[in-house]
Amino acid sequence: MFDMGGDMKRHAQAMTDKKRMITILDILARTYPDARVGLDYTTPFELLIATILSAQCTDERVNIVTKRLFVKYKSPNDYLSVSVEELESDIHSTGFYRNKARNIQGCCATLLDTYGGNVPETLEDLIALPGVGRKTANCVLSTCYGKPAITVDTHVTRVSALLGFTQSSNAEIIERDLMEITPSELWNSINLLFITHGRRICIARRPRCNDCAIADYCPSSQRD
Ligand code: SF4
Repeated sequence: MFDMGGDMKRHAQAMTDKKRMITILDILARTYPDARVGLDYTTPFELLIATILSAQCTDERVNIVTKRLFVKYKSPNDYLSVSVEELESDIHSTGFYRNKARNIQGCCATLLDTYGGNVPETLEDLIALPGVGRKTANCVLSTCYGKPAITVDTHVTRVSALLGFTQSSNAEIIERDLMEITPSELWNSINLLFITHGRRICIARRPRCNDCAIADYCPSSQRD
């Protein structure tokens, strides 16, 4: 008699989650037609700098700082032409400004030395830059270069766990779990839609399940 082994069961589960993920993304896309990247930028280089600054800081605060910053600093050379103290002062209010200033100057030096001042277009090259982790790299790849990538931030982590799409709190494992159940052409929409949903409805510590458009598909729903 045929025994449905562990692999087969996992596959069946993946099929179910795949269908559920596609349905959820479809509903969220219709619910949030205005969903957009929270950071202001006009070039891949500006998004790279803004994303480095966004660590432990709100997008709103970063946008206030970059409004002035991007007028003063337009290229990697500009960031290297000032002292680290001057750059620290210009980005002070984003927090962790010493680390961020050092990383930005290190990143700019590598961009000039290795990439002719351009932002590279592969995950491997991006995560090798100072101050650039997987989250920043995936954000640049998907947002600027239109390459399929899933950016896992705090909202994606929380919403994915509540939806039962991952058991892990490790960003790289979450990224892999989501990739397994999502067609690659939808990877880029996950971050934008889950962040928007996480900010407006599935709010940390007080999710508004009664107002949630995907409650029917959520195993954590507390809907009355
Ligand atoms: S039903 Fe509740 S827990 Fe589930 S996604 Fe919606 S708001 Fe979040």
